[in-house]
Amino acid sequence: MDNREILEKIGQSDMVLAGLGEDFDGSAFLGQDERYLAGCGKLKEAGLHWLMPAWNEFCVEKSGDGSLEQAFERLEEILGGKNFFAVSLSTNRRAGGLRQVVMPCGSWKMKQCSGGCGGGLSEVTEQDRDRLWLFFEELYRGSLPKGNPLSGVCPQCGAALVLNNVYAKEYDESGYLEQWGLYRKWLQGTLNRKLFVLELGVGMRFPSVVRWPFEKVAFFNQKAYFCRVHEKLYQLTKELSEKGCGISKNAIDWLGEL
Ligand SMILES: [Zn+2]
Repeated sequence: MDNREILEKIGQSDMVLAGLGEDFDGSAFLGQDERYLAGCGKLKEAGLHWLMPAWNEFCVEKSGDGSLEQAFERLEEILGGKNFFAVSLSTNRRAGGLRQVVMPCGSWKMKQCSGGCGGGLSEVTEQDRDRLWLFFEELYRGSLPKGNPLSGVCPQCGAALVLNNVYAKEYDESGYLEQWGLYRKWLQGTLNRKLFVLELGVGMRFPSVVRWPFEKVAFFNQKAYFCRVHEKLYQLTKELSEKGCGISKNAIDWLGEL
């Protein structure tokens, strides 16, 4: 199936279920950036892995590469008039701007208690962002600044705050549960509707969140079409090969050409 046919098929569908994977973290081009990789190592070593989503975005900004932003814009265009829901495994804060989205891995939109006591979920402020960016400027130059770039403490237990995402040692999942409920409800409404399942750059890191359930949804829906875009893991299961296509491409590049 070529790109024109795929767009036509999306146009004819009643609903679109979209999955966004790690391609949306910019991993393809950041993986070539030595300063980015060195920073990742330092953060992990220092127990600051929870900064990763913000560090990714800082380095995307530094790279000057606009392909990621263009991919998001193109995706928004395609989904624009559709009844859709997106599940993002990417922690890119930009994905949170989609009209209907759930982000089970979190991002750097919210802060949480580092101890995971359940208290302290709050929005990352502009001030936090400025402090994070100053922190990253130094890290990008090769040295890890001292201390925690997030100010404030958990109002419930007084522990330090960290960014609310899956890299946090005690990830507070309550940050996405409300959206998850909406997503489950939306999913129930897809049965017997013409559903287009669009899986973009989703690897095997959390297969039980997108890959496997998406396959199941497409399998049980008689009118579903499944399109899987991934550089290496683009193959479809035997059961789905009749009602779908696998495209061997980075999802960001693919959206750029669509
Ligand atoms: Zn706490």
